[in-house]
Amino acid sequence: MKSSVELRELLNRIDHRGYPAYKDTRGTYQFEGYILSIDHVQGDPFAAPSRVSVHVPGKIAGFPTDLYDAPHKKIALQDYLLRHFARQVEAFTFKAKGSGKSGLMSVSRCGQEILDRTACEIEKGGKVIIRMEIGFPANGRTINSRELIKILFDFLPGCVKKSLYYQSLNPQNVKKTAELAEDQYYIRNELPKRGLAAFVANGSILPRESGVSERPMRGAVAFQSPASMEVELQLPNHGPLKGMGIKHGITLIVGGGYHGKSTLLKALELGVYNHIAGDGREYVITDDTAVKIRAEDGRSIKQVDISMFINNLPNGKDTVHFCTEDASGSTSQAANVIEAMEAGTNVMLIDEDTSATNFMIRDELMQRVVNRDSEPITPFIDRVQELYQEYRISTILVAGSSGSYFHKADCVIQMDHYLPKDITAFAKKEAAAFPIPNELPEASKTPSYARAVRTDAGFKKNDRIKMKTQGKDSILLNRDTIDLRYVEQLTDTEQLHTLGSLVKYAQFHLFDGKKTLSQVVDVLDKLLEEKGLSAICEGSYIPSGLAMPRKQEIFACLNRYRALKL
Ligand code: ADP
Ligand code: MG
Repeated sequence: MKSSVELRELLNRIDHRGYPAYKDTRGTYQFEGYILSIDHVQGDPFAAPSRVSVHVPGKIAGFPTDLYDAPHKKIALQDYLLRHFARQVEAFTFKAKGSGKSGLMSVSRCGQEILDRTACEIEKGGKVIIRMEIGFPANGRTINSRELIKILFDFLPGCVKKSLYYQSLNPQNVKKTAELAEDQYYIRNELPKRGLAAFVANGSILPRESGVSERPMRGAVAFQSPASMEVELQLPNHGPLKGMGIKHGITLIVGGGYHGKSTLLKALELGVYNHIAGDGREYVITDDTAVKIRAEDGRSIKQVDISMFINNLPNGKDTVHFCTEDASGSTSQAANVIEAMEAGTNVMLIDEDTSATNFMIRDELMQRVVNRDSEPITPFIDRVQELYQEYRISTILVAGSSGSYFHKADCVIQMDHYLPKDITAFAKKEAAAFPIPNELPEASKTPSYARAVRTDAGFKKNDRIKMKTQGKDSILLNRDTIDLRYVEQLTDTEQLHTLGSLVKYAQFHLFDGKKTLSQVVDVLDKLLEEKGLSAICEGSYIPSGLAMPRKQEIFACLNRYRALKL
């Protein structure tokens, strides 16, 4: 390792030279209190900025062990430090001048969810690592190293000291972060013990500020559980907390249009993640295997056994090994259900707004007119109880317009002026007076998940692979687009970066013609769990910009990868 003095000398030497001379700065340098590592130097001032990491030894960072001695606390502290660091850096970005990206200083932008990211990592022993991007300054394509000296010697040291040293932070706030993480962890573990699929605390703020802001809506009606569904939890730090417990089984959310049904479901969808203090959904916790199910016209489906829902297609197509490059509303939703089962979900979340009607229900008159034998679709309503009884998969369903599900539901919640009411008894009574022909279809066969991934998928071993992501919408791998627009529980673009890297990794190491898709995902999931995000980074350095996805989204991504051969 070199000293910061040597770096300064080197920078002075290469001033006014051609941009490529910056390449010599790659390496590690001892600064006062931390190591600066220049991991990758950009090729020119207009290219993607350089990659730099800051390593603060545990002794100097000084965080008490009990702030990061469990994964959930560690992730929360990383998130807290990253947000702090980002705020510091924001004040300095582009303060150093030059052409192109000269002077840029940037770290990951965190949203409302707390995610494990490569941008900030706390290692055993309390070492803090920050990974960021810096645009090395130039005039035209001529090095302006005086500006880089400003960044590395004036701006960055202050940012590091103000945000990554325990002694510079407000200990009360740091403690609160760990305590919230503990409480959220507690609720998550408490759900299965109490037979709950989700918990929504009284006082929660569910709606967001706007369609483009995930911040809490101001002046919103705070959540309040109906008395009959209220449970009280004893959180280790917060103490007693009451809220609505949604039991496993079949739960229906009904109510007039605009009364807050979809808002509640959306909060449950994202309740698989923990939220930051002040979000309003800190104590909205959903079983973290829950999957949002929706129609997704046009997606590709590969060898999925949708025979539980669809049989005897008029074109004679096989629905046990169903394949299509352009699914309909109902077939896509059927595949989404089966794939969620394969991905090990305990809870399906469905909103009729985004469902295919013919997948969800068939009304009585239609059943009379069009005989069951000539209808390929067994609607979800005829399987929803079987899913729970046979597979222990619960369903939480928003249904504003069809009463058919009243007959199936274990619990009916009415959203009324944004407040939930338990109307189970009333709805059941009304439903009893309104019987439906209840001849259930034959029990379905357990879907087969035996889909081995062939070795010749996508690209070859020595191909150079270009990866790009477009927001939360899609991943571009060479020429193939993986469309993830409708995988609604992806919450951060950095999760898509990780998914792209995972596909790449799987292609190089795991697709062997023998492993099934589930086995491939299991290997990836285990790798991430044991070694973290860095396990899948195969370059010479660990990049910033990767955030942890769930196993369910890894499945969702591979299932939508058209180049995959099964
Ligand atoms: P539904 O699905 O029942 O038609 P939505 O959930 O889409 O209704 O909500 C309708 C509107 O009401 C949205 O604009 C939403 O932001 C707003 N809203 C939802 N919940 C609340 C609340 N608790 N307080 C204030 N406004 C809310
Ligand atoms: Mg709605």
